[in-house]
Amino acid sequence: MTSEELWQAALGELEIALSKANFTTWFKNTALTQFENDQVTISVPNTFTKAWFEKKYHRAILDTLQRIGGRPIKTITYQVGGRSSFAAVPAITMAPISAPASRGVASTTGNGLNPRYVFSTFIVGKGNELPHAAARAVAARPGAAYNPLFIYGGVGLGKTHLIQAVGNEILASDPTKKILYVTCETFTNDFIHAVRGGNAKRFQDTYRGVDVLLIDDIQFITGKEGTQEAFFHTFNALHQTNKQLVLTSDRHPKAIPALEARLLSRFEWGMIADIISPDFETRVAILEAKCQEKQYQLDKNIVSYIATMIQNNVRELEGALNKIVAFHQLKNIPPTLEFIKKMLASSQPIRKSVTNKQVLQTVSLFFDIPQEELLGKSREKRLAFPRQIIMYLLRTELQASFPAIGLELGGRDHTTAMHACSKITREAEEDPKLKQDIELIKQRLYNG
Ligand code: ADP
Ligand code: MG
Repeated sequence: MTSEELWQAALGELEIALSKANFTTWFKNTALTQFENDQVTISVPNTFTKAWFEKKYHRAILDTLQRIGGRPIKTITYQVGGRSSFAAVPAITMAPISAPASRGVASTTGNGLNPRYVFSTFIVGKGNELPHAAARAVAARPGAAYNPLFIYGGVGLGKTHLIQAVGNEILASDPTKKILYVTCETFTNDFIHAVRGGNAKRFQDTYRGVDVLLIDDIQFITGKEGTQEAFFHTFNALHQTNKQLVLTSDRHPKAIPALEARLLSRFEWGMIADIISPDFETRVAILEAKCQEKQYQLDKNIVSYIATMIQNNVRELEGALNKIVAFHQLKNIPPTLEFIKKMLASSQPIRKSVTNKQVLQTVSLFFDIPQEELLGKSREKRLAFPRQIIMYLLRTELQASFPAIGLELGGRDHTTAMHACSKITREAEEDPKLKQDIELIKQRLYNG
């Protein structure tokens, strides 16, 4: 197979995997220019596409090429220029994006830090003030301020940005400091490989030999007993010698199911800070900052419109802006309000349909309460609340009738269902934490 044929075959697969619009926008005028041993070079028309490939499509491209090419690939380089007939587009500055943290024992693969995530690009507002201040304090005096620092909150609200900023900041002021950033998944894999490969010593040296250990998305440690044990010992070894630990999670440690009590108590030793969705002013400020970063101008009324439409996720805010810039610079479609309205409407993810059963299952998992108990007769508060959430979701997401909801929940009266729905609606308006939990449950529900 020539590289031309290989790339055409890969494109065929990628076209099916990605949406049509995305596909044409990004893959037009690309070519595979080199495929030697485990090194691949793909030529792309401009820096913007390069950044997108590195950031969004790298995994898909890598997997597809490996599958079709039938051999492992170590690196893919995206090279601007080469065989492109693309009209030159103004270069858009985007900070370099480092390769995703690789698997395997981390010591051999760098510190996992992405230079893009620094404090100076993090917009502070209501919703992230406390975790931001705590992260700054930790970066200024690692091991001395709060240890561990535990940051939690919903998806796309800046947890990874903050935890990485701590590492980057410490490294900037003292390049001799040993920092290690890993996701919980990498930590788990490293541990499993260490056990299997008889490399326990190397695992220990790697994780206990650092000055600062940053573990992202620690909630995934749930139910993994061996990993929890390994983490417990790592934690103790570091903490005892005043080495800094920073952890993030999508929820409060108390809400992580099947977390060992001894770990929970350690998480509570330092500071637990939550991030909630940014308010309107912060969303506007974030959009303005991102525009400035890209040296791109956007009308005030358009910025407010986007900030009004996208409320719960900074990543989505960024995504919308990237899309606008792309349409403008690559397809010459200027960002009129009318166009943006259409664009945002069409980018609403198509929700897969879910069933009553899945609602029940998701809530049961979220609160770690068996379904039978939720359907049972007991009115204990710890059961009543999740039950009300189920009723609320059946109503708002599946438009079920009140009698049907009552029936679904172990044959309760329809007035119970009505009461639950209005109660949760009211409380979610007043309590951002509850609102966020509901968002999180919905994300689980729709994204599996
Ligand atoms: P999480 O880890 O909580 O899911 P991320 O840290 O990955 O979220 O943030 C998603 C995106 O939004 C990142 O590109 C990040 O830089 C950006 N972001 C989040 N919060 C802010 C903020 N307050 N200021 C600037 N950018 C932010
Ligand atoms: Mg994250």
